[in-house]
Amino acid sequence: MKTLKIAIQKSGRLNEKSVELLKNCGLSFENYKSSLISTVSNFPLEILFLRDDDIPEYVQDGIADLGIVGENVINETEVDVAYLQMLGFGKCSLKLAVPNNGQIQSLSDLSGKAIATSYPNILKKFLAKNNVAADIRTISGSVEIAPGLGLSDAICDLVSTGGTLKSNGLIPFGDVMHSQAVLIGRKGDEQNPLIVELLQRVQSVLRAKETKYVVLNIERKNLDAIKSLLSGIKSPTVVPLAEEGWVAVHTVVAEKDFWDKISQMKAVGAQGIVVMPIEKIIL
Ligand code: ATP
Ligand code: MG
Repeated sequence: MKTLKIAIQKSGRLNEKSVELLKNCGLSFENYKSSLISTVSNFPLEILFLRDDDIPEYVQDGIADLGIVGENVINETEVDVAYLQMLGFGKCSLKLAVPNNGQIQSLSDLSGKAIATSYPNILKKFLAKNNVAADIRTISGSVEIAPGLGLSDAICDLVSTGGTLKSNGLIPFGDVMHSQAVLIGRKGDEQNPLIVELLQRVQSVLRAKETKYVVLNIERKNLDAIKSLLSGIKSPTVVPLAEEGWVAVHTVVAEKDFWDKISQMKAVGAQGIVVMPIEKIIL
């Protein structure tokens, strides 16, 4: 079967998590900073290390079969690719932001103003949808300094914590889009058995990240209370302990309501709670 190619960011915010995801999928490869291509030794896959801007087009044009890239880049390049899996990392928002001198307060105040951005296509569509006629100034980086230099009245840029905006005297006032890293493929390729196999591995790694493995001890008379807390999950494994009347309960708990569940378990008598990460969940 033809070797697949996956394009990931060579260096930058998505590189480390992309490499980690592929390694967690059980793929063995060398990750030299200098190499542009790496061959996976235990799966028919080659990894191409690229600028993130080039990834959507490489996938659309079939130079790579798969890619890991931010949705912001996909939307900006306006390519037609298949979203195979949202990956939950690289989360950020494309936001409008203005100097904190209070002159621009709402979207309509942007009419006739200049907005600096590295995302002209996304911004153009957003402004058109909101009936705002503004002048878009495309710059490739350091957008946040544009208002201070007198280059624009506002900016439209990626934000995760907002720290960079703040330190440049800017206040965010509108979300243009939310973004996260996504695994993309070429449309029509979804049935390729190698892609199906890789996607299943990715999904099993993501599922495992969302859950923890929990082992706890409880008196048998309180077992039903624990079981009712775990409703919705397949019934837990219950193992008798050497001490008469006590059992160990093994179960999985979703990361998002983990602390709630643990305190509820303690409240009904759970002791010696041990929590372990899960590497993969294969359904
Ligand atoms: P390249 O050299 O590959 O072109 P880049 O400088 O364009 O890299 P990075 O800054 O490494 O890109 O960001 C890569 C992606 O990380 C962004 O496109 C976005 O999807 C995501 N991201 C997450 N948080 C942020 C943030 N605070 N600022 C910018 N991008 C972010
Ligand atoms: Mg880039």
